[in-house]
Amino acid sequence: MGPPYGPGPTAVERAAPGVGGVPYSDGVPPATVTPHDAANGVLRTVFGYDEFRGFQADVIDHVVGGGDAVVLMPTGGGKSLCYQIPSLVGEGTGIVVSPLIALMHDQVDALTTAGVRAGYLNSTQGYDERAATERAYLAGELDLLYLAPERLLSPETLDLLGRGTPALFAIDEAHCVSQWGHDFRPEYLRLAVLHERWPGVPRLALTATATAATHAEIRARLQLPDARDFVASFDRPNIQYRIAPKDNPRAQLLTLLRDEHPGDAGIVYCLTRASVDETAAWLAGQGVDALPYHAGLDRSVRARNQARFAREDGVVMVATIAFGMGIDKPDVRFVAHLDLPKSVEGYYQETGRAGRDGLPATAWLAYGLADVVQQRRLIEMSEGDEQHKRRLAQHLDAMLALCETVGCRRQQLLSYFGEGSAPCGNCDTCLNPPSSYDGTVPAQKLLSTVVRLDQRGQRYGVGHVVDVLRGKTTERVRSLGHAELSTFGIGADLSDGEWRAVVRQLVAARLLGVEPEHSTLHLTPDSAAVLRGEREVRLRHDAAAAGRSRRAGPKPAKATADLPAADADLFERLRAWRAGVAREAGLPAYVVFHDATLREVATRRPTTLDELAGIGGVGTAKLDRYGAGVLGVVTGEAVAKDDDGVDPS
Ligand code: ADP
Ligand code: ZN
Repeated sequence: MGPPYGPGPTAVERAAPGVGGVPYSDGVPPATVTPHDAANGVLRTVFGYDEFRGFQADVIDHVVGGGDAVVLMPTGGGKSLCYQIPSLVGEGTGIVVSPLIALMHDQVDALTTAGVRAGYLNSTQGYDERAATERAYLAGELDLLYLAPERLLSPETLDLLGRGTPALFAIDEAHCVSQWGHDFRPEYLRLAVLHERWPGVPRLALTATATAATHAEIRARLQLPDARDFVASFDRPNIQYRIAPKDNPRAQLLTLLRDEHPGDAGIVYCLTRASVDETAAWLAGQGVDALPYHAGLDRSVRARNQARFAREDGVVMVATIAFGMGIDKPDVRFVAHLDLPKSVEGYYQETGRAGRDGLPATAWLAYGLADVVQQRRLIEMSEGDEQHKRRLAQHLDAMLALCETVGCRRQQLLSYFGEGSAPCGNCDTCLNPPSSYDGTVPAQKLLSTVVRLDQRGQRYGVGHVVDVLRGKTTERVRSLGHAELSTFGIGADLSDGEWRAVVRQLVAARLLGVEPEHSTLHLTPDSAAVLRGEREVRLRHDAAAAGRSRRAGPKPAKATADLPAADADLFERLRAWRAGVAREAGLPAYVVFHDATLREVATRRPTTLDELAGIGGVGTAKLDRYGAGVLGVVTGEAVAKDDDGVDPS
C-alpha cells in the first residue's frame, strides 16, 4: 500500500469536525466538541466500535489532559486504542516505541486501512521511503509514528522528533525494561531520556505482563513516578485452559487440531529447535498447513513464515518461545504447548496470544514426568548463582502446581497474579472435574520401595520401580533379585499409568527426587514426613491414566461452533472473499476485517451500507473501501437462499 501521507482531511477531522481548527462544512459550529466527544467520535468513525472497553476512555482522558500513564492490560485487552486515539484527537504526532520491527509494517497497514495517517521508521526501509516518512512527520501529516527503541535513541532521530511535534510517547511492551524477564531489551533502560528532553509530553507505558515486580520496575526504570496506574483484570474469559497428561503428544495434538480447530490459525510451542522442526514436518505430513519458527532458521525463512502466519488464514506456527511477542494477529484460535513452560508468567503470555478478538479460543498443554525432569535438568545446568537457580525453581514449581491442581485453572492463574475470582466454568477442571484422593498410602509404598533399593546402593528409574511395586517378574527383577524385596507386589492395585501419575505428582511436589542425568528416583528432604505418616498426600486421578472414559469433554472452541449452519456458511464465504481482497492488496487478512466483524455480518446480514456501518469494526474508511464487496457476498447469499426456498414468482 502506498504512503498515505499528504493533505486532505485527517481521520479525526472526518470524525469530529471543528477539532484541530478545521472549519465546519456548513459554517455553523455545533455545541463545543470536547476532547472526550472527539475521542468517542474517533472510536466510532475510524475504528467502527460503539463503546470503549474497560478503562480505555479513562486512559485516553488522562493522557489527553497531559498525564502520564502505566497501562497493564492482558493481551487482547485493547491497549492500542489507549495511545492511538489521544494521538488522533490532539495536535502533533503520537510516537510509538515498539521492539518489533518485523511487525511495524502490519501495524501501520492496519491503521492506514482504517484511514489513519501512520508511518514507521526502521532499518527495513529504503532511503526514499524513510525520507518521505520524515518529511510527512515534519509537515505535521502523521498522526502516529512507530519506531524501534534503538532508532528512537539515535541522536539523528531525537533531533528529527524535536523539529516536529510529538503529541505523546507510547512505550509498548514496557516489560522489556525488566532485567529479570526473558524479553529484556537494554535500550529500554535509556528511554527515560524522553522525559528529560520532552518533560511536557505525556508518556504511556503499556504491557501485558502482570506481576507486581515488573510493574514496579517499569515505573522506576522509565521514570514514571507520577504516572497514573491503570490495571485491568487479567482474565481472558474466552480462552479455555486445558492441561492434559502427556500420553502420545503428537496424536493428542492432532486430535485437538482435527476435532476442534480444523483450518484454524494457531501456535504450537515446543522447547527445542529440533522438536520444532520435527513437529512442523510431521504436522505438514498429516495435511496441516504448519510452518516452523525458531532462532536457528535463516532470517529470510523466519520472516517468510511469520508473514504467512500473519497474512493468511489457518496457518499453524510451530515455534520456540522466540516467536510471538507483539504478534497482533487477532484470530489465533489455539495455542498448544507440547512441552512444559518454565513459568506461569511465560505460560500466560504465550497462551494469551490466542483469541485476541474475544472469540472462543483454546490453550492446551500436554505435560508429563519427563517434562519435570527436563526442566529441572535445565535449571541445574543454567548459568547463574544459587539464588538465580532458586528463583527459576520457584517459577517452575508454580507452573507444576498449576498443572497438578484439581481446582479451577483460571482461578489459580489469576490468583498467581494477585487477582481473586470464582471457578470459571471454562477450563478442563471446571468442565470435567478430576477427583482427588488420599494418596498417602500409595506414596508410602512408592517411597518405601525407593528406600529399599537405595539401601542396597541401587537407584532406578520409574519403569523398574513400578514393576517392583506391581510385582512383575521381569527379566531385570529376576536377575537383580528384587522379587525378594518386602515391597514387591504391594502396589498391584494400581495400573502402570496410575503409578506413573503418582510418581509425577510426587516429583512435582518435591516429595520424590529425580536424578536429572539418568532419571533415577531418590528421596528428598520432604519424603521422610510422608514415610513416617506425618504428612498427608492428596493426589489427583488423571482421567486418562485411570483408563476411565472421559465424561462430557470440553466443548469445542471453534469460532463458528455456536452459529447456525447457514450463518457459519456465510461466515466462511466472507472469509474467502476477505482472503482474495487481502491477497490482492498485499495485506494480512485481519487488517481487512477481523473474524469478529465477519461473524457479526454473517449473523446480522446487513443489506445496506448504513446497516453495515453499525457493525463492530466497520469504520468510515473500510466502509468506503470494502462495503460494496461485503454486501455483495451477503446478498449473493440471500439470493441463493431464495432459490433454495419457495419460488418467488
Ligand atoms: P492489546 O494490544 O491490548 O493486545 P489490541 O489493542 O490489539 O490489544 O486490541 C485487541 C482487539 O480488541 C483488537 O482486535 C481491537 O480492534 C479490539 N478492540 C479494542 N478496543 C475495542 C473496543 N472498544 N471495542 C471493540 N473492540 C475493541
Ligand atoms: Zn475453571
